[in-house]
Amino acid sequence: MEDLRSLIRDIPDFPQQGVVFKDITPVLGDPDGFARLVKAMADPYRDAGVSHVAGIEARGFTLAAPVALELGAGFVPIRKPGKLPYETIRQDYELEYGTDSLEIHVDAITPGEKVLLVDDVIATGGTAAAAVKLLEGIGAEVVGFSVFIELVFLSGIEMLDGVPIHALVRYH
Ligand code: AMP
Repeated sequence: MEDLRSLIRDIPDFPQQGVVFKDITPVLGDPDGFARLVKAMADPYRDAGVSHVAGIEARGFTLAAPVALELGAGFVPIRKPGKLPYETIRQDYELEYGTDSLEIHVDAITPGEKVLLVDDVIATGGTAAAAVKLLEGIGAEVVGFSVFIELVFLSGIEMLDGVPIHALVRYH
């Protein structure tokens, strides 16, 4: 994973003072790196019976959709309020820099189906925790959270309520 780690670009003080933003666009822009990232995020779940991969708007979409194809699964968008056109449920949460809400379509999966959650970064864990609550709220069994980057020092994993996390690159 060291080659992927070397493609992650640190942007100090973005989007606000004191935050070191982990910019994954150099990874996405590298055809070989992008392909290896998607495969590595999907690998642990190839035999997990995953019916859907859920991605969190917006950077999460760039990884969740190809991981879904890699696993032969469907894709479920978890979006910012007001973006999804059909009936939704909503979850409020706090993030590293502010507060926000997420929504999911009530019929995105059939209750009991196994869903893998995917995102680019876990920081405080509020976003992933909100996404897990939404998925469980529509009856999903959340089999895991596959994330590219874990900011270990923010202890986001503690917010996940027992959902197993698979992080490729960890910052201590
Ligand atoms: P959190 O809810 O604090 O775990 O924040 C996770 C969400 O915010 C993810 O969807 C990330 O895309 C984004 N995020 C938070 N902190 C960072 C960071 N330092 N670098 C890049 N993205 C971040």
